[in-house]
Amino acid sequence: MKKSSEPADFKSRPPYKDAFDIDYPQEEVPGQPHVHRCKSCKVLTTQINGRLENHAPTCEYRVRKTGS
Ligand SMILES: [Zn+2]
Repeated sequence: MKKSSEPADFKSRPPYKDAFDIDYPQEEVPGQPHVHRCKSCKVLTTQINGRLENHAPTCEYRVRKTGS
């Protein structure tokens, strides 16, 4: 019997890898309870919109994800 093995990590491969990235550390914007931003670069989550490229170029999280 042949066992089919679907790769379970397909979402971690291109083009999915950086297609939608919400795994970054977030924090609430002071004084704005429902507004969140990246803890590293302070860009609003609504601005990042799940895109790694929308983080600041110097963002610690972005650098860690892209730099190798
Ligand atoms: Zn960031």
